[in-house]
Amino acid sequence: MKKVGIIGAGASGLMAAIEAAGEGAAVTLFEKKDRVGKKILVTGNGRCNFTNANLSKDHYYTDDDDFVERILSKFGNSELLMYFTGLGLLIREKNGYFYPSCDQASAVLDLLRQALTEKNVEVKTDSNVISVSTKNDAYVVTLENGDTYQFDAVIIATGGKAGLSPKETVNGYDILNKLNHKSTKLYPALTQIKCEGLNFKALSGVKSDCVLYLFADENLIMSQGGELLFTDSGISGIVSFQISHCVAEFLDNKKKVEVVLDLLPGIEEEKLKAFIVPKMLLHPNQTLEEFFVGIHNKKLNTEIIKRIGLKPSMKVSDVDKDTLLNAVLSLKEITVKAVDVNGFDKAQVTGGGILTGEVTDDLESKLHKNLFITGELLNVDGLCGGYNLQWAFSTGIIAGRAAGKQEDK
Ligand SMILES: Cc1cc2nc3c(=O)[nH]c(=O)nc-3n(C[C@H](O)[C@H](O)[C@H](O)COP(=O)(O)OP(=O)(O)OC[C@H]3O[C@@H](n4cnc5c(N)ncnc54)[C@H](O)[C@@H]3O)c2cc1C
Repeated sequence: MKKVGIIGAGASGLMAAIEAAGEGAAVTLFEKKDRVGKKILVTGNGRCNFTNANLSKDHYYTDDDDFVERILSKFGNSELLMYFTGLGLLIREKNGYFYPSCDQASAVLDLLRQALTEKNVEVKTDSNVISVSTKNDAYVVTLENGDTYQFDAVIIATGGKAGLSPKETVNGYDILNKLNHKSTKLYPALTQIKCEGLNFKALSGVKSDCVLYLFADENLIMSQGGELLFTDSGISGIVSFQISHCVAEFLDNKKKVEVVLDLLPGIEEEKLKAFIVPKMLLHPNQTLEEFFVGIHNKKLNTEIIKRIGLKPSMKVSDVDKDTLLNAVLSLKEITVKAVDVNGFDKAQVTGGGILTGEVTDDLESKLHKNLFITGELLNVDGLCGGYNLQWAFSTGIIAGRAAGKQEDK
């Protein structure tokens, strides 16, 4: 019977193990933590947003869009929905985002664990793999405690650096680098952006619908709409997560990175003027603090008033009409400077990774037969919205089937 070793029991490793065993292989799954699939439990704020109806290559950062498309056309959104339904998961959709209907990520993990048991996968937790080496036509997997195991095929599914504390060593890239695989530079992605240009401490906790425009060296790179959350050092929330990979890369390349915030999206300038001018005429005796009530969040109103050099206690009639109008209009165009992104420990995914050109469409290494690479380790990272778990599950399934199927020696 063919022996397959899988390093890492995260989303992609669990899938790979189930599928390789389904092909009739004897599978051993190594996990350095005390339990398998711990990260799945925290995904989607504990609800596990595992795929998206709008799945396409356009939702990923990668060195090869076509590769992503080919993988997703082999095993995409509808295949994953069918797969989980087959495992026994009742699924619900909200605005194109898919979750377990019970809203519990643990349900996804429990079903995967049940499948592991049914398929007789040997699970070894507390087993930190420190190296994978070739020996004739086989692979030797060495654990931190010195134990060694020999396999006909190995799947490296260790995930990236996201979510790891700076103290934790990451072996996936090291293991693969020692086997001559190359990785791009790595960046924290889907994370908060540290900014300058607003009193962020005063705004911390404020949420707003927003459209963000990302500029690098004065050139518009992209825009994203969604909910923004101000933190005491910058911006967070899904809308800023979506641009964080780009921000990290541009900053690393010493570009000037600016983000323009439209905090009144969908309300055109003319409409805003038509609202503000009569409001000024109707309430000349209001303080600016009172006047701004009903326009935006109170903390943001105060900050905008201060930003243009006025005091919240001043009266509307004491302020020049254009100054006041511009203050309100400025909510549609606040420019802040991005200076950093949060580290890997606070990121949801790793940007960059093993070059996709080094694996086949079965995720098999082009350098080493019967060696497979899955999930976040590869230079493919998705936007928020279920794209990363879909990638992990797709690659795990494809690699598991290919690794398990190959002929016995
Ligand atoms: C807070 C948070 C929320 C997220 N929410 C979502 C979401 O809602 N939707 C979405 O699509 N994506 C989400 N993601 C991203 C998604 O979880 C990952 O992209 C995905 O889990 C990657 O799967 P993977 O199998 O490549 O790696 P991982 O899931 O990271 O699994 C790797 C496994 O390998 C183990 N391991 C590592 N090194 C070794 C070693 N040397 N020996 C043995 N074991 C090892 C690790 O302990 C881990 O269990 C979220 C991520 C985070 C951090």
